[in-house]
Amino acid sequence: MDKEIFLCSICNINSGTCNEDCKFCSQSVRYKADIQRYKHKPLEDILKEAKNARDNGALGFCLVTADKGLNDKTLKFVCDVAKAVQEEVPELRLIACNGTATLEQLLILKESGVKAYNHNLETSKAFYPQICTTHSWEERYETCQNVNKAEMVLITGGIFGLGETQEDRISMLEALNSLNPTSVPINFYHHNEALELQPNPLNADEALSLIKLTRETIPHAQRIMVAGGRDLMFGERQNEIFAHGANSIVIGNYLTTSGRIMSKDLQMLKSLHLSVAKKV
Ligand code: SF4
Repeated sequence: MDKEIFLCSICNINSGTCNEDCKFCSQSVRYKADIQRYKHKPLEDILKEAKNARDNGALGFCLVTADKGLNDKTLKFVCDVAKAVQEEVPELRLIACNGTATLEQLLILKESGVKAYNHNLETSKAFYPQICTTHSWEERYETCQNVNKAEMVLITGGIFGLGETQEDRISMLEALNSLNPTSVPINFYHHNEALELQPNPLNADEALSLIKLTRETIPHAQRIMVAGGRDLMFGERQNEIFAHGANSIVIGNYLTTSGRIMSKDLQMLKSLHLSVAKKV
């Protein structure tokens, strides 16, 4: 039987307004990266993106906000958007990615139709203070625990290529495994010249072996997803990620960078005799 690939699309419903200092993130206001910044994406545009994602085979649609975590205003905005998307495009499974969240906030999102919550550990506990000083790794881990307590689907992963050691990578993957996630998005650092971090030092072979390591270290995750940085990291070798353990990809644009045209990804899957998953 064909291996099934889960497609997910992300929608930056609020962009570039974060006060945190994550060194890999062009959405922090501190680094003045040349990106689009807005408080609220118009609902009309969000619905258009949702329909386009569905029409290209996406099952997951992720509502992302750029902030440390949820507050009352952001929570209301995400809930309103979630309800509207659910009504207009019920085929999509809604995911929210809004930073740190309490159990109470997550339960409110759940009531609004959000099925899954994405919050990445990003890197190892030991390396985290070198990439962010405004909040702790422990807060991130706690939010993931809250997602499990809320009995929502937990999506948590991280970024490779930030200058971490192999020991850090293994430590992050073990921490992710301890949270028993359903889906593990792995990102590869996409350098922006406004950021002080050095460009991603990984080559495609090393990155492929990290996908394999993720699959091996988190054996019970239903999905290992290759998310941000896919084109940049693998170029013409993107088709090799599936043989190394990935069974999910983000299609379309990323948060602040462009992705491949969705139809190119669909063509790639077809040429590999991989089918697009129709249900989660
Ligand atoms: S908290 Fe999130 S949005 Fe804010 S700078 Fe860090 S990674 Fe970027």
